[in-house]
Amino acid sequence: SSILSNVLPAPEDPVLSVIFACRDDPCPVKLNVSARAYRTEEGKPLVLEVVRKAEQQLANDLQGYLPIDGLADFNKLSAKLTLGDDSHAVEENRVVTIQCLSGRLRVVFVPNPTWGNHPFIFTLAGLCVEYFRYYDPQTRGLDFEGMLEDLGAAPSGAIVVLQSCAHNPTGIDPTLEQWEKIRQIVRSKGLLPFFDNAYQVRSTCLFFNLNFHGFATGNLDSDAQSVCMFVADGGECLIAQSFAKNMGLYGERIGTLTIVCTSQDVARKVHSQVLLVVRPMYLSPPIHGASIVTTILKNSDMYKDWTIELKGMADRIISMRQQLYEAIQARGTPGDWTHIIKQIGMFSFTGLNKKQVRWMAKEYHIYMTYDGYVI
Ligand code: PLP
Repeated sequence: SSILSNVLPAPEDPVLSVIFACRDDPCPVKLNVSARAYRTEEGKPLVLEVVRKAEQQLANDLQGYLPIDGLADFNKLSAKLTLGDDSHAVEENRVVTIQCLSGRLRVVFVPNPTWGNHPFIFTLAGLCVEYFRYYDPQTRGLDFEGMLEDLGAAPSGAIVVLQSCAHNPTGIDPTLEQWEKIRQIVRSKGLLPFFDNAYQVRSTCLFFNLNFHGFATGNLDSDAQSVCMFVADGGECLIAQSFAKNMGLYGERIGTLTIVCTSQDVARKVHSQVLLVVRPMYLSPPIHGASIVTTILKNSDMYKDWTIELKGMADRIISMRQQLYEAIQARGTPGDWTHIIKQIGMFSFTGLNKKQVRWMAKEYHIYMTYDGYVI
């Protein structure tokens, strides 16, 4: 008799089913455009030169378990990268940062739509997941009025998940003026903002209008960015920072959770609770990715090389969007395709429907999720 034979198959995952369909297609010329990661011109994962260099420096240097909250220097540098060199919150010792396994609280409100894993993560954490309006299919842009209305109706104390930039999966971000209105409503309603920072590098956002002038001069206009706007007002804020995309360290599972508190005393208590959560979960985080990131962030030459490689990735994505748009126009394709160049980052809602997506797979062996989302 088998105990496990009663296990039911898990419901189909839209992203995984695209991966499997493409994998099982015998056609030698096929393409999965929902691959969830940056790829080179040859369709290969990109290992940054600066990461290779950091790994060489680290060879034979990694040992032992890390503490429960991770590599101390890594946490410090990661918080500095997110919040800035001159963060009052850091100076006042009211920031808790712990190393986490990459980009990973009552009612939690997430954008509709959002990264597919958000609802799973929060449900498993025992939270009740609700949605606020975000994408407007009519304009293929932000439903800003709907978003404000839904946040305005959220109960005080609820958590609001905000993606700091390059929104997954729509590629649509609020403008800075809209961010300010969002901040005001979040604060006035007493909501707790939780930023998912999967694509942000301090005051530059990976894969969209990068302000490398700021990086180059060191004169970063920190207040101009969503997370920093929330931290600057002195209120509470959670930030999940990932180094998967911005350093190409996808498989290392490396990131941080930073919690900005209102006082050092609160920060101390929060830190003790976070350790209590981590201990039974994985006890101690992995060392390799944290060491690579730390090596790069600590060394000013390597840091500069990193920003140059980042710009290479970002510029290529912007140029690919432009090329796709021009190719669609050149063929006289009906409809308005400006959303392809208006949206930012690695993600694009093409606006293609299920029938069109199926046809592309059948006729051209090009695979994407049924909601027409390209990553
Ligand atoms: N959050 C968002 C919005 C994402 O798009 C992704 C990756 O696809 C993640 C988190 C997960 O990133 P990580 O690889 O750091 O777990």
